Amino acid sequence: MPALRDVLVTTVKPNLFDFDRKGLRELFASLGEKPYRADQVMKWMYHRHVTDFGGMTDVGKALRDKLSAAVDIVPPKTLFEKQSSDATHKWLIGMDGGNAIETVFIPEATRGTLCVSSQVGCGLNCQFCSTATQGFNRNLSTAEIVGQVWVAAKHLGNVPHHQRKLTNVVMMGMGEPLLNFDNVVRAMSVMRDDLGFGLANKRVTLSTAGLVPMIDRLSEESDVSLAVSLHAPNDELRTELVPLNKKYPIAELLASCQRYAARRPRTSITFEYTMLKDVNDKPEHARQLVKLMRKVPSKVNLIPFNPFTGTRFERSDEAVIRSFQKILLDAGVLTTVRRTRGDDIDAACGQLKGQVLDRTRRQAEFRRSLEKGQADAA
Ligand code: SF4
Repeated sequence: MPALRDVLVTTVKPNLFDFDRKGLRELFASLGEKPYRADQVMKWMYHRHVTDFGGMTDVGKALRDKLSAAVDIVPPKTLFEKQSSDATHKWLIGMDGGNAIETVFIPEATRGTLCVSSQVGCGLNCQFCSTATQGFNRNLSTAEIVGQVWVAAKHLGNVPHHQRKLTNVVMMGMGEPLLNFDNVVRAMSVMRDDLGFGLANKRVTLSTAGLVPMIDRLSEESDVSLAVSLHAPNDELRTELVPLNKKYPIAELLASCQRYAARRPRTSITFEYTMLKDVNDKPEHARQLVKLMRKVPSKVNLIPFNPFTGTRFERSDEAVIRSFQKILLDAGVLTTVRRTRGDDIDAACGQLKGQVLDRTRRQAEFRRSLEKGQADAA
């Protein structure tokens, strides 16, 4: 039975999950080793899911011993995991201080998407988001972000370019990724590296609530797809739902999206719009949204709200969502409705973001679960 301290991602030696290829080569250079040695180790980590230097059979024994003494490869620890009846898979991953984050894999006919967290909690206080109810705790390290993908890839038996089961990553889990910029950009670099998870740029998506200066910075440093949590078609309503809008109103946000699209012409921008009954789902809201979408080449993704304990919002009726979509489609705006997945394991969108209204209760549950050795309990 593991003690609680054993489920924490702690290491005194550098953890190789904290480095992208460039950083890993620099680390190996500081150990007097050639760059190709770093590449070899990276391939073992991400293509074969090996974390023990002893198992890296094409690396000489002297180097294996040297690496064992100097560095570590420590993936995050899964507290428990569960699969939904629709094959959606959720991992609860242990962090320090009794905290946990959730990572969800959503398989579909032609792709497999992993939803990854960037922070423990979130400080942006979007009114319809369950993560907001637990406040901000801390940023995740690069290793903790990359580690979520590694845990899922290992479970799925994913091998980049050969046995490709994990095809897309969306940074849409807990947290605002642009507030953890360096770690998120470094982690996304590993996701897109051929020696890492080998995903195409457009298959890695960063979702932001609209931090305008950081969207500009992202466009200079990365080629990933961008998603923007819009959720309202005018400033009055958006400021109520997404308080960050007060600082960066819709006009500024759309201008930054235009700049992103201009600098990264091959990337797509998706606007996410959670459908809240009688709040933002009226025909006039759809018409206002059409006007906004004329300003940026984009796609709208309508997300049926997933209620959580204590929320004042309800999900819009199916018919209302369809008529809202029709207004957008008729006006030529590419609009999809997200299918709700993983409802039976609380992994649906919005619920992923930590149903931790009562953290004390949840942490007590984690400990009890560990004490009983119920790694697969839910
Ligand atoms: S929707 Fe995203 S940015 Fe807003 S509070 Fe939730 S996690 Fe934070």
